[in-house]
Amino acid sequence: MKPFDVYPLFDIEIVKGIGCRTYDNQGNEYLDLYGGHAVISVGHSHPHYVQRVTEQLNKLGFYSNSVHNSLQEQLAEKLGKACGYEDYSLFMINTGAEANENALKLASFYNGRKRVVSFGKSFHGRTSAAVRVTDNPKIVAPVNSGMDVTFLPLNDIEATAVELRKGDVSAVIIEGIQGVGGIRIPDDGFLQQLRALCDETDTVLILDEIQSGYGRSGKFFAHQYANIRPDLITLAKGMGNGFPIGGVLIAPKFKAVHGQLGTTFGGNHLACAAALSVLEIMHDEALVDNAAKIGDFLLQELKKSPQIKEVRGRGLMIGIEFETSAADIRRRLLFEQKVFTGASGTNVIRLLPPLCLTQSDAELFLERFKAVLTA
Ligand code: PLP
Repeated sequence: MKPFDVYPLFDIEIVKGIGCRTYDNQGNEYLDLYGGHAVISVGHSHPHYVQRVTEQLNKLGFYSNSVHNSLQEQLAEKLGKACGYEDYSLFMINTGAEANENALKLASFYNGRKRVVSFGKSFHGRTSAAVRVTDNPKIVAPVNSGMDVTFLPLNDIEATAVELRKGDVSAVIIEGIQGVGGIRIPDDGFLQQLRALCDETDTVLILDEIQSGYGRSGKFFAHQYANIRPDLITLAKGMGNGFPIGGVLIAPKFKAVHGQLGTTFGGNHLACAAALSVLEIMHDEALVDNAAKIGDFLLQELKKSPQIKEVRGRGLMIGIEFETSAADIRRRLLFEQKVFTGASGTNVIRLLPPLCLTQSDAELFLERFKAVLTA
């Protein structure tokens, strides 16, 4: 048997990682401005992370959700404090798509409605409801297409008001910053008006912070720039620094019903140990502040480059847009300069480095990026 061939691969095998560096099986060192797709939050192989996960594995890797697991309570408490949502509850699953599935279900159980509003260029995952609210018909299978979803242009408050005031919308789902869509930031004013409209129409506001959350934007959540409080917040990626774990933060107005939501693996002992160590490292090393500071430096410097059409982003979530395809620039960065970056569509390079990126790492990236742009 072979793996199902769903990804176009670069011919590189990464076998080791330390901090913001990765190493291939030929011994080449790479500067990681991609973080394994926004997943590596506290850096590769952080000693505290390795120790916490190893210690837990030596004790107990997994037991079921039918008995107490105090690590889940510790994680919920620590996360609530770190992000400023101490009065919310945490439901734990394994991936981002699952987080959105469960958020959409919770919203629909709550208000009994079926229709969902989502936005142009959004990405929310590849499972049934999550992919249906994703603005990419190519990845929606016929079996997923039954749900009633309305896509609206991002930041169009008039169109949103018209739809929500029809009174049949269960939830609005929106990314804190659109990632796959090319690093597009919803306006703070739009989010504030959206919050008010959801209150007025009893629509559930779901903030997908799977990519933009966990400190990446320079605040714990990107929506905190707009000073709003969503009803449900979905998380994954940076939460476990590579260990699969996702979460839904749930406002107090939702009441838990035994048996309504559930999962075999979600909130398992190893995942909780990984997620706890991530929060400990983020706190001890002030990584949210670091993301804000280094991200701001990168944004200012990149904006000076005449070869770039536009630079967008907050913190260490940055999109660099070119007039034409950026594929060759990205390939040359990787093979000639040994720098990993991400992409959005054809013309945008996405930077999603570990949140521990240092000033000298950022300067080294700019130097190597310039070498590619000017050669
Ligand atoms: N939502 C957003 C904003 C994402 O960026 C992603 C993944 O890239 C997902 C949801 C889906 O997460 P997962 O691949 O863990 O299911």
